[in-house]
Amino acid sequence: MFTLSDQQLPYHNIPAHPDLRLDIKRLDLIHPLISGNKFYKLKDNIRTAQQQGYQQLLTFGGAYSNHIAATAAAGKLLNIPTIGIIRGEELEHQALNPTLTTAQQNGMQLHFVSRQEYRQRHEAEYLARLSAKFPYAYIIPEGGTNTLAVQGCQEILSEKDLQTYDVICCAVGTGGTISGLINASAEHQQVIGFPALKGDFLIQDIQHWTKKSNWLLVQDYHFGGYAKVTPALLDFIQRFEQQYQIPLEPIYTGKMLFGLFELIKQNYFVKGSRILVIHSGGLQGKTSLS
Ligand SMILES: *Cc1c(COP(=O)(O)O)cnc(C)c1O
Repeated sequence: MFTLSDQQLPYHNIPAHPDLRLDIKRLDLIHPLISGNKFYKLKDNIRTAQQQGYQQLLTFGGAYSNHIAATAAAGKLLNIPTIGIIRGEELEHQALNPTLTTAQQNGMQLHFVSRQEYRQRHEAEYLARLSAKFPYAYIIPEGGTNTLAVQGCQEILSEKDLQTYDVICCAVGTGGTISGLINASAEHQQVIGFPALKGDFLIQDIQHWTKKSNWLLVQDYHFGGYAKVTPALLDFIQRFEQQYQIPLEPIYTGKMLFGLFELIKQNYFVKGSRILVIHSGGLQGKTSLS
């Protein structure tokens, strides 16, 4: 897609507490649409698709999906046609939101499917039918999470990150990103994930991708579920943005930082802890949501 060296990614220090060091690694600045973790999740998949002679990329997502936005933009950049299977057949007859409008402008062919059909997105039989319909398409799962994505996310942490920090924090959706971070982390580090959605299945999902145990999920800050927000969350995001001049969105990074600030208030971290927060991007959806 494009190459990225670690030196290009800024770190921003946040003076959240005098006894802690808190730095944010700005993966959100990688690209306006192929942002944050989605770059790392896509890059090896796209390389593999090209090497194996596929001519299109096909993937799945909801109307606000950062993964859909990233896949469409990457396809445009690399001249690979993309196909998006989008949840919600009713959307076909409505004006498209900014995420889908931009995806379409970037050349993505949108296929709107019912929720019932969308639910089959992980089933082998359904995937076989899609492969028959789109024989030249390399299929990437919803949210982009597969073996190559987890491998790609292992590159988020640099050698220096492994030496410098005690704690690594990230937002969690499907669990692919945190799995890569855990696999790459040093023994002495703890990886803390803040799920953006409800559900105990995430623990098993992450255990599928990693054998290590230096991680945990803080499950208290999903704010009612995926894409659910509260006035308190929106207020926190606004204050954070004003104070630190770092943009957040309410689905993932806003919830993570809200939760992290709560843990800090509760003296969860031992004095002197050095915390690295992964800003996983996702800001393209902000205009659609506000
Ligand atoms: C997709 C996304 C996540 C979740 O990543 P997973 O690998 O699915 O856990 C977190 N933050 C942002 C901004 C995202 O777009």
